[in-house]
Amino acid sequence: MNTFQDLGLNEDLLHAIADLGFEKPSEVQNKAIPILLEKEGDLVALAQTGTGKTASFGFPMLQKINVDSRTTQGLILSPTRELCLQITNEIKQYGKYCKGLNVVAIYGGASITEQARDVKKGAQIIVATPGRMKDMISRRLVDISKIEYAVLDEADEMLNMGFYEDITSILSHTPEDKSTWLFSATMPKEVASIAKKFMHQPIEITVGNKNESTSNVSHEYYLVNARDRYQALKRLADANPDIFSVVFCRTKRDTQKVAEQLIEDGYSAAALHGDLSQNQRDLVMKSFRNKQIQMLVATDVAARGIDVDDITHVINYQLPDEIETYTHRSGRTGRAGKTGVSMVIVSKSEVRKIKSIERIIKKNFDKKDIPNGMEICE
Ligand code: ADP
Ligand code: MG
Repeated sequence: MNTFQDLGLNEDLLHAIADLGFEKPSEVQNKAIPILLEKEGDLVALAQTGTGKTASFGFPMLQKINVDSRTTQGLILSPTRELCLQITNEIKQYGKYCKGLNVVAIYGGASITEQARDVKKGAQIIVATPGRMKDMISRRLVDISKIEYAVLDEADEMLNMGFYEDITSILSHTPEDKSTWLFSATMPKEVASIAKKFMHQPIEITVGNKNESTSNVSHEYYLVNARDRYQALKRLADANPDIFSVVFCRTKRDTQKVAEQLIEDGYSAAALHGDLSQNQRDLVMKSFRNKQIQMLVATDVAARGIDVDDITHVINYQLPDEIETYTHRSGRTGRAGKTGVSMVIVSKSEVRKIKSIERIIKKNFDKKDIPNGMEICE
């Protein structure tokens, strides 16, 4: 069995890892870290959500950059603001004993002037969403011409969200001879094409089956009349009083409506979607992380990549339009070796979608009855 020490990490990082309580490297960390530490060059790593990808690129990047220099040496691109903040916090924790380290988060919806000022103070690592990054480059508020390491995190999500052009444009401002590290849960053809276009003979590592969702997650579906969806949600919440859950809705409007209704009915809930201000979104995420909210009702975009410990249930209040999105939703639970349940509330007209999902996740669903509520079940 490998230890973090065996992987070749330095004392500062091992010290931080001990503080974090990580006992041993995860599989993707085991595979990626030694390669990234030893070699310059490109890497494509495929691993499901919750397998510890952030540390897989974070540790090697922290060990390889020069903290005595104020030049920006590492750039991490990630799909959403929430994820960008989460990675920034994580990297700061990993690097807490790396004296002189400056990590800056760049994302839309917050003051560009402040972010530019933070960068100017000398950030060795920038964690950014593609849109804001491109904006700052065009306004000459950042200089990434001396980047040595570029990470495309959650590459499948970034491309899903239409960031192809932005990523291309950003990478064109970085040196040709940098190392590019691409991390993704799945390998759709868009990801393969970006790898082909921007990477030179990347080393490839795959952990687990690339389309399989986390094995610690069990999947259940509840067949109800479409009009009883909300009732079903309440019953599920009642039957699991300690629930700590993300409830996914299809639209911002439904997200807001369901959250408001839950609050009115006395449940501990809040909405997270793109129509909220950045400030509101940060506050909601903070209370959820601190477990002051039991049910986070969210859209897919807002919840993308969120890594909150101990989520017990993912509830698909409505199924996503793209069936592949289900994998990302259910990956919010069962993280870091814990178990979790992903529940789907479906009406008769959508129940065939369960079969398609089963094919994608290569696991079967259990058909369950809504607790104490036979009368609302089909
Ligand atoms: P991914 O990016 O693959 O979805 P993350 O990097 O967000 O996964 O990690 C998921 C969770 O697991 C985080 O809370 C992280 O702190 C934790 N974690 C990462 N590596 C380890 C480890 N080796 N041991 C225990 N927990 C870990
Ligand atoms: Mg991640």
